[in-house]
Amino acid sequence: MLLENITMPEFIEGLKKTTTVIIPFGTIEEHGTHLPLSTDTIQAVEVARRASDQAPAFVAAPIHYGVCTSTAQHPGTVSITAETLRRLIRDVVRALYKHGLRGFILASGHGGSLHYAAMREVAEELIYELADSKFAVFAIYDMVKWEAEDLIETKHDSHAGELETSDILYLRPDLVKGRDTESYPRRTDPFVARDKFRLWPTGVWGDPGKASPEKGEKSIELMTGKLVEVIKTMETFEP
Ligand SMILES: [Zn+2]
Repeated sequence: MLLENITMPEFIEGLKKTTTVIIPFGTIEEHGTHLPLSTDTIQAVEVARRASDQAPAFVAAPIHYGVCTSTAQHPGTVSITAETLRRLIRDVVRALYKHGLRGFILASGHGGSLHYAAMREVAEELIYELADSKFAVFAIYDMVKWEAEDLIETKHDSHAGELETSDILYLRPDLVKGRDTESYPRRTDPFVARDKFRLWPTGVWGDPGKASPEKGEKSIELMTGKLVEVIKTMETFEP
């Protein structure tokens, strides 16, 4: 049940079946020279949509902008502040709550640590503010971290690498423009870098060359399966 496509009566009818809603989170963020800026959103929305076909849940319209730190200077990335994201989540969750929704699954296609922290922080706040509310917060990739290691060949694969490229090759091959080359960022931990573009000009972390639509299909199926589990557990989970 995609909120953006259903009518008011369908929404009321849907509430009889479930009070759980998945809110997909994405970004407009560089993903090398070969993947679309909306890569994270495409994955989150598609996994949410597929999961809601297998277990009853509403799917809210995606939060399409996210907090991007290491890629904020790359052309095309539109990063918002953590404070804006927190306020947006609060407003969206409170509005959905007023309409009767109680289980909130905040599923992110973007794995940035500040982005995730903002999502988590709001859930920690609202769980005390909204009676009978329940929250699950995660990045969809983190749910399949171990399984994905068997699925792909690149050792330290991450942003716009083998896995993400495989996912988009499977979901939206029309948006994949060739393949960028294998590369990795230069890390400065524990120091905070100012010129992040200089440390990671390619914006690719991993090897897109090893990607395939078959790997993407498996990875999307894995993430969908995990999300279905979360939807089902939400019913009985006591916070
Ligand atoms: Zn991504």
